Amino acid sequence: HALRGDLLLNGLETMLEENFVKQRQALIRSLISQRILRSSNVIRAMEAVPREKFILEEYRRSAYIDTPLPIGEGQTVSAPHMVAIMLEELDLKKGLNVLEIGAGSGYSAALMAEIVEPTVSDLNKGHVTSIERVPELINFARDNLKRTGYSDRVSIVFGDGTLGYPERSKEMLYDRIVVTAAAPHIPVYLRAQLNKNGIILVPVGDTFMQTLIKATKYEEKMEFREVCNCMFVPLIGEDGFRF
Ligand code: SAH
Repeated sequence: HALRGDLLLNGLETMLEENFVKQRQALIRSLISQRILRSSNVIRAMEAVPREKFILEEYRRSAYIDTPLPIGEGQTVSAPHMVAIMLEELDLKKGLNVLEIGAGSGYSAALMAEIVEPTVSDLNKGHVTSIERVPELINFARDNLKRTGYSDRVSIVFGDGTLGYPERSKEMLYDRIVVTAAAPHIPVYLRAQLNKNGIILVPVGDTFMQTLIKATKYEEKMEFREVCNCMFVPLIGEDGFRF
């Protein structure tokens, strides 16, 4: 009986997995028809990363509904359309180094890692570093990334991301910086850690509603553009919201 039970469970798991793949494909088709998903590398990443593996068990069934979902500690994983918008605006390429503030579930970090991936000639390029201030979520993100095979390409770091990644600030500039929490302004340390021709994306506003701001750094000046309205959980820290 135990063996039959195991077989039955295995069969059920395979069915669920196949179902998730179908749901993922349907969601991607929908995001393409809405013209939110456009680039082949972003579409490929959304196809490759299983969102259901970054979701708490009690919400897993809803993994492919286009909505944010709770990940514990009062935080959420962003809705797929919002992740897609950010990925499209970031203009990621193979070999770029990315700094993310707000690792949460690790889902967006995995997607970015899928696109930048290390180059064979330089293993220090194409890496994603993601900072998280909630210790419980550090473990959650690391477990999710390990299960899905992204551990080598993503580093989850504990700290206040409004200060950038201070341990590395002297030697390390990032090609792309993305803040996945609502900020009162673009944190100054993050502007300083952005490489020339780099792009930084930040939801700027109050703790209820924000505008996604895209800033591109040229030689001396920064160029700013408003992408869309959005609703993120607050960026809490020294150069963010202080509670
Ligand atoms: N990118 C995540 C979304 C996480 S929600 C995902 O794909 O799941 C935003 C996250 O930012 C939360 O986990 C929150 O704890 C974190 N956060 C808020 N302020 C922060 C700060 N100052 N430094 C680092 N992380 C922060």
